Amino acid sequence: MSSTSRRDFVRMAAISVAGAPLIPSIAHRATPTTARQEKKLGFALVGLGSLSTNQIAPALQKTKHCRLAGIVTGTPAKAAKWKAQYGIPDKNIYNYETMSRMADNPDIDVVYVVTPNSLHARDTIKAAKAGKHVLCEKPMEVSAARCQEMIGAVKAANRQLAIGYRCRFEPHHLEMLRIAKEKEMGDVRLIESGFGFSIGDPTQWRLKQALAGGGPLMDVGIYSIQSAEMIAGQYPIAVSAMTTKTDPVKFKEVEESMTFELKFANGISASCTTTYKVNGFNRTTAYAERGTFGLTPAFNYDGIKGWRSDRKELAGAEVDQFATEMDDFADCIINNRPTSVPGEMGLRDVRTMMALYEAARMGRTVRIA
Ligand code: NAD
Repeated sequence: MSSTSRRDFVRMAAISVAGAPLIPSIAHRATPTTARQEKKLGFALVGLGSLSTNQIAPALQKTKHCRLAGIVTGTPAKAAKWKAQYGIPDKNIYNYETMSRMADNPDIDVVYVVTPNSLHARDTIKAAKAGKHVLCEKPMEVSAARCQEMIGAVKAANRQLAIGYRCRFEPHHLEMLRIAKEKEMGDVRLIESGFGFSIGDPTQWRLKQALAGGGPLMDVGIYSIQSAEMIAGQYPIAVSAMTTKTDPVKFKEVEESMTFELKFANGISASCTTTYKVNGFNRTTAYAERGTFGLTPAFNYDGIKGWRSDRKELAGAEVDQFATEMDDFADCIINNRPTSVPGEMGLRDVRTMMALYEAARMGRTVRIA
């Protein structure tokens, strides 16, 4: 990592802990803060699949600063169902072709992109051109070039772009970060993390390279990368990886499992595994000079459990991670404060994942520029 990108990381980490606006502010509509604070920002969800239906829409009902104002779907039956369930007016219901017309719709402030990975650039760029702020699900996209296009489009529109890294707002993960940063058990030397599940339907987009951009690494391995980055306080500078497949028919296009190593400039290394092979694989552990601390499970939507080898408590409030993430983004927009999970962070992680695929392909360590 160059010294500039390391500085950027440290700056972003500082923002996420202290909440202080240390990077240049992003201008938006010049409505006075006090007036805007009384208004809940209107969110439009793009892609009404499992995550939107089961997590995001219910979470929007719990937010302080957001409301479900609109939807974008290619399926008329879903539009009718959501309209009835959430009272969404016809004028706020779009499909992928008509969503550019949001430009004329003041009800919608933020577009939340929840489509398959390789459609994130398409939907983000349309939303930005319509003058909307964008919250985009992880992984940001399937190539660094597409991430850069997204950043460029949102910048050109003078809006904010955030990535749906829900664990960045989760109290147990923030406590892990604090223990590491304050060296409560001395310097962290090693991190171990794993996340996976047993994937079902062999026809789903997660198993298609063109839509997913890869296998479990892109889908859930990214959580281990994020966790390691939070604990190490940096982005990795070099990686190595090995992929495995026991079912070459089901996993014709993407890896079934990947074991990988992340090396950080401060000497920390992280050993991680991600898989579509087993359920219940979900943990992160930090090994420091005077003890060990971790989360098992680490990446669930709820029920995260922390532990420390010194038997002190590693606790955190139980929050709705999606509500917290959306409220934070709304607060950034309302108060003209930069997000702690910007497109640049999503881009950097996509670069790391591309380096991991290259490392697995070439059978050697790959440095990340
Ligand atoms: P899903 O398959 O349940 O939903 C995807 C939606 O996109 C569907 O409504 C589908 O109709 C729509 N879609 C539009 N164009 C499509 C196309 N060409 N092919 C397939 N579907 C198309 O997926 P999901 O689990 O809701 O995941 C959506 C996104 O959210 C992914 O990027 C995923 O990585 C991310 N995700 C994040 C979390 C998290 O915890 N932050 C959890 C799950 C998923």
